Amino acid sequence: MNEAEKTKWIEKLPLLSEIAERKEVLWRNPKNGDSAAGIAQSGITASDVEDASNRLKRFAPYIEKVFPETTTSKGVIESPITPIPSMKQSLSIKYDTQIPGELLLKQDNSLPISGSIKARGGIYEVLKHAETLAVEHGLIKMDEDYTKFAEPEFRNLFAKHKIAVGSTGNLGLSIGIMSAKLGFDVTVHMSADAKQWKKDLLREKGVTVVEYADDYSKAVEEGRRQAEADQLCHFVDDENSLDLFLGYAVAGERVAAQLSEQGRKVDNDHPLFVYLPCGVGGGPGGVAFGLKLQFGDAVHCFFAEPTHSPCMTIGMMTGLHDKVSVADFGLDNQTAADGLAVGTPSGFVGERIEPLLEGCYTISDDTMFELLTMLADTEDIRLEPSALAGMTGPIQTIRGQVPFADSSTATHLVWATGGSMVPETEMELYYGIGKTIIEESGK
Ligand SMILES: *Cc1c(COP(=O)(O)O)cnc(C)c1O
Repeated sequence: MNEAEKTKWIEKLPLLSEIAERKEVLWRNPKNGDSAAGIAQSGITASDVEDASNRLKRFAPYIEKVFPETTTSKGVIESPITPIPSMKQSLSIKYDTQIPGELLLKQDNSLPISGSIKARGGIYEVLKHAETLAVEHGLIKMDEDYTKFAEPEFRNLFAKHKIAVGSTGNLGLSIGIMSAKLGFDVTVHMSADAKQWKKDLLREKGVTVVEYADDYSKAVEEGRRQAEADQLCHFVDDENSLDLFLGYAVAGERVAAQLSEQGRKVDNDHPLFVYLPCGVGGGPGGVAFGLKLQFGDAVHCFFAEPTHSPCMTIGMMTGLHDKVSVADFGLDNQTAADGLAVGTPSGFVGERIEPLLEGCYTISDDTMFELLTMLADTEDIRLEPSALAGMTGPIQTIRGQVPFADSSTATHLVWATGGSMVPETEMELYYGIGKTIIEESGK
């Protein structure tokens, strides 16, 4: 995009000038409409998501067998929903804004196996690929006991097949750990900003890690190119994968069951607001889609992005999706929020989620660090910086006068997307950064 085009866009959509100045903004999506129509338009159906859910059920006995940490959940990879009343109080004070509804945290930071939202879509896609191969080669039928996947003949088959992915870190962890466990020859193409401990951990598990001096899009592009040349290689395409999307979407029915067990209603009189940190869009897009299937118009989904990397916000606002990048608006895509440092959104997700998303907002790295420290102090929950992006959601929607956000019967669900894999020393560092920002702003 040239300067003249950029100026034209800013004239048409003045909020873009605030975005270009890296301000924290709220954008309401004018294309958000009737849920049933949006779902129909997406080309993805409830039965596609049900199929993914059933596949995860078939694999649960295998997961339970090879990942002992999933014993209590019987091989189901799920996280708790936790009320965070002390954090709610601190948020209200910090922003001088009342939150009359309830504040809940969806703790994907504690998802088993890889400690982030990527354990949903990433692991699902690898399992689906493994099942396809195993069925094709006559090793298993879909009604058999899937603990067989741990047997040597399966591992021997998978060892002849490759899986590759491009990632800033967390997707690499999920794909790498799951693929290596099944016995695949797996390569993770990592961007320059990926953390050293993630690379080390993957190599420890027998994953090949290729590093790039460039950013995420470059790592994906290289990975895709190398995989295309190899017929036995399955490339997990974070930007265009329906399987990833469906794996994430299964979260919808899980959340519905959890809220119902906790006795919480979701209907037009009890609206559910969900705040999802967004990178390329697959995770939040899939989850939002799954929630829409469950709750229809009673659920209101917002994506949260760093002020330096608001790719989905810009893609949706302009309708240009993957044809626009944050660099077009002078942004550097530099953020401490792993997984959110993405300059160009997924067009596949953007187009599907467009009629279903209520809006997007941005958040600065400083705010994420402050909230990280606040959450540790108030609730003793430690998240990685990206996972705090959802935390200003209730403030943004209430201040932005989004209908019903300030209702006492509203539930605000902040999707905490990662954290439990972060080494303690790294977490201490994050906590310290937040503490310093809080102390300096108090002076
Ligand atoms: C990947 C990731 C996200 C966003 O998911 P996308 O599919 O990239 O949009 C959010 N938070 C964390 C911690 C992540 O790793």
